[in-house]
Order: sequence, then C-alpha cells, then structure tokens
Amino acid sequence: MSNYNEKFMNFHQMEIDERILKAIARLGWKSPTLIQVKAIPLLLEGKDVLVRARTGSGKTAAFLIPIIHKILVNKQNASEQNTSVLILAPSKDLCHQTIKVIENLTVKCGRLVQFIDLASKMDKTVLKHMLTERPDIIVSTPAKLISQLKEGNLISKESLQSLVIDEADLMFSFGFENDLREIFNYFPYIYQSILASATLDKDVLSLKKITLHNPVILKLEEAELAPNTQLSHYHILAEESDKAAILYTLFKLQLIKGKTLIFVNCIDRCYRLFYRLKLFLEQFNIRSCILNSELPVSIRCHTVNQFNQGLYDIIIASDELHVINPMGESSAQKKVKTKKIFKEVDGEAGVSRGIDFQFVSNVINFDFPRDVNVYIHRAGRTARGNSLGNVLSFVDMNERSYLDTVHEHLKNSLNTKENVIRNYLFKMDEVEPFRYRARDAWRTVTKFSIRESRIKEIKTEIVNSDKLKSFFDENPRDLQALRHDRSLHTIKVQEHLGDVPEYIVPNSLRHITAITNNKQKYGKKKSYDKVNNPLLVSGIDYAKKRRV
Ligand code: AMP
Repeated sequence: MSNYNEKFMNFHQMEIDERILKAIARLGWKSPTLIQVKAIPLLLEGKDVLVRARTGSGKTAAFLIPIIHKILVNKQNASEQNTSVLILAPSKDLCHQTIKVIENLTVKCGRLVQFIDLASKMDKTVLKHMLTERPDIIVSTPAKLISQLKEGNLISKESLQSLVIDEADLMFSFGFENDLREIFNYFPYIYQSILASATLDKDVLSLKKITLHNPVILKLEEAELAPNTQLSHYHILAEESDKAAILYTLFKLQLIKGKTLIFVNCIDRCYRLFYRLKLFLEQFNIRSCILNSELPVSIRCHTVNQFNQGLYDIIIASDELHVINPMGESSAQKKVKTKKIFKEVDGEAGVSRGIDFQFVSNVINFDFPRDVNVYIHRAGRTARGNSLGNVLSFVDMNERSYLDTVHEHLKNSLNTKENVIRNYLFKMDEVEPFRYRARDAWRTVTKFSIRESRIKEIKTEIVNSDKLKSFFDENPRDLQALRHDRSLHTIKVQEHLGDVPEYIVPNSLRHITAITNNKQKYGKKKSYDKVNNPLLVSGIDYAKKRRV
C-alpha cells in the first residue's frame, strides 16, 4: 500500500475510452484500486502480466478495462467481427461473475462489444449460433472450452489476441492441467497473456513459463486489511445473554444499515446458533439467510449470488465458508481438499474462494473469532475495492483475551499506536424494553423448533436445487421465486413484535433513528449507495448524537 498515494492516478488519466469511463462512473468507483493503478497502464501497453492479487482487490476490472478498451480501439478499423479475447476461470460462478463485470463496464458501448459465457447453461443450438457470430470475448472454464473446441465450434486461431487465466492457482488444483495444455496447443501464439492468481506457487510459475512472454510480475504488497480510514472496527462488550438483544436493537433502530454478514463461531453449536439467530430475528420481521455448509455448494453459491443482486440484506455465516483456503494450510493439503470438493460438485468447481460477497457494508462478529487470521478473513469481506466498511464485534468475558490479541495484531499491522478496534458506545440500560422483548423471543426458539427448521430448510433447498440448476439459469427474472430468506414458520410469530413502538425508543436516540411511528417495519427495502456507504452509525457518531 505504501507508494499508492505517490503514484496515485485516476481512471481518466489512463487514456481509457470515454464509454468505459462513463460506465466506471455509473458503478460509483471513484478511484482505481492499487492493482488497477499498476496493471491497467502495463496492459494498455500490451505487456504480458502475471499479477498476484487477492479477491476483493479489484483485479477483474484491472484486466477487463484494458481488454475492453482495446476491443473498442480495434473496432474502429476492423472490417469483420472476430473473437479476440479468451478469459478462463476455474468455476462456473467465477465465469458468471466475470461476465457481470463485462456487462457493467460495457453498458455505455451499445451492442458494440459482444461477449458470451460458455459455462452458463444454454441450449446447444443457441450456443452454436451465438458462437458463429464470433463474440469479441469468450469467458469459459477450461473444460467447457475444450468441449466446444472438439465440436469444432470455436474461434479462428489467428483472431485471438488476448488470453486471461483468472484464479490461476486453482486451475491446477481442480485438475484442469491437461485441458489447459490442450488449449495452448490449439492456440500456439497469442498476442497478450495475463495470469491472475492469489498465490504464486510452483504450479502458477510453471503455467507462467508456458503462457507468458517476458512478463511483468506484479506482486503487490497489499496490507492484509484496508486502512482504518476505509474499514472501521468496533466492539461492544456484552455478555452472551445480551448479544441477541443488542443485535435486534441495532437492526430495529436502524443503527446498522446496508448489507450485513453475521458470523458465528463453529464450535459444536454452529448449526444450533445459525437457526436460533434466524428464528429469533424472524420474530421481529428481520429476514436473514443462512449459509449452511450442510447444503450443496450450488445452493450456497446461489444464495451469495442473490445476496449480491440485492435480494437479501443479511446473511448468517460461519468460517467454514473459507474451508478452501484457510490461512496457513499447505498447498498439498489445499489441493486434496479442493479436489475433493471439486468432485462433490459434479465437475463444476463451485467453491467460495473467489466468490465475492459484494457491497457488504458491515461484518458482525456475533462470536468473537478465536484466531487473528479468522478475524482478518471475516473483516476482508467488507471494504472491498475502495468502498467503506465496518466490523462490529460482540465480545463477552471469555472472549476478551482474543479481542486483545487481535487488537495488538491490527495495531502492528496498521503501524499505529492508536486504538484500532474502538468501543461502540452502546448503553444497554437505555434500551431495556428491547431487552425484554429479545429475551422472550430468544426463549421462544426451542431445541425442537431449531431441529424442525434445520430439517425443513435442508429438504426444501435440496428439492429446489434441481429446479434451480436448470430453470433459474435461463430465467434470471424468476430468481425471486426461490428466495433463501423465507420465514421458516416453525415458531409462532407474534405480529406485533415486527413493529417498534415509538415509546420504547430511548429519547436520546429518537432523532438518529428512522423510527417515527409504529408502522415502520424493517422488512421494507431502503435505497442506499452501494459503494460508499458508511452505514453502520459509528460508535463515535452515535455517542456524539446521543443527547445525554
Ligand atoms: P475483484 O477483486 O475483481 O473480485 O473485485 C472486488 C470488488 O471490488 C468487486 O465487488 C468490484 O465491484 C469492486 N471494485 C473493483 N474496482 C473498484 C474500484 N476502483 N472502486 C470501488 N470498487 C471496486
């Protein structure tokens, strides 16, 4: 991060096509991320680049912006339409994500830039027809590309100018090695190649030898977390019995706004707590989804996709999501695990690595993580790109030592002596009526209702999974029909709990919450700026604003 400011450059100083700049402005990206500052000029010059960057660094746009720019430039003199760019990613979901970014970046180009996702489910004849139109960009998994090459449907060798291999380190782990070699045999010479990878292990270095010619290697010295001007950390000291009450109060008083991930620790009580929290919040008309590792990977990815599309605001998750890439795991161990999961998902590597929770404003540690790396991994889910984010941790007596360890680590890592994890000044005694309601609601969720909910949800999701695969891929507008945040209805919901009567809101907070009458419900959608939204009212603001 160190020389980011010295070499600061804005998008409009990079000689990028006006239409792309307009699309970037529409996305609300105010400035390029570090990787974009470094990589875009090199790629525009036509250099081969190997870039080590983590998910969330903005790497997709870093290679797509120059690629789209070049397509637009070449189109000015081109006499015929041709496929010039091939982007390979290890999973269907990553291909889908890349296509979404292309869609966003070309939104002001009319229909000038054509692209296709070979990994998406598509009727064979439709696909064949689309390929005969020679789209400018093809995005695919290696396996899907090979099957099209074998059917003779694809690309003229001469027209291909750029090749991108995204998440390159996963390509080998997922067993795409042979497919890649076959692809390289098919395209003996490509004008420009780009490799993007989270790690530079020996597999990536051997891939580099095959694909790149005199590459520039960008090993960005990225801080493990965004600086605290972008990512704010707070904690609330709360005994275990009060955590749920505080959570409900913060949501109902709208002191937390925007997309939120709630993390629970996964020591025995994980599933119980997942459902207990969901059923608890449900009673107050606060909808949430559970990202449950008991469910097939495809459903979990579907839930994340819907979250990204804005269908849900709250996901309750555990750290198992990061099972693919836990810190400190050896690459051999990682390979065994990823291969196993790869098999489990029927040939499609639908893993969470690289699958991005987008526009997350807040991460809440309902349980404080027992390990610094876990804290960092959770916190890294927010403040993506250049957007703002908050981490709020609930810390009970038993968790204080873990808080101290993480705090020391963050201070060292951010090179500051100041408090990084600030105290969120939450006064439980000011919201006593909320606590009463919460206590009742928490008790209502029994072991039996939790078990019922768990069985019910798993059954429903599995039944849905087949429909989901075939139908919703082709009918994205009907996604609404398959929501993952539906009420489980295994406990009796008392309608009145969904409302917050004005009299229970403390006087000191009335002017900063949006609760003005008892008809206000959380469930209603509110608009918010997806990119720059400091939506968790900060402890400091909260303290300042409180009239004490
Ligand atoms: P990636 O590392 O490509 O997965 O991107 C991570 C996230 O950062 C995505 O949600 C992008 O929409 C977002 N993003 C990419 N570039 C920028 C930028 N310059 N400013 C703000 N957000 C960005």
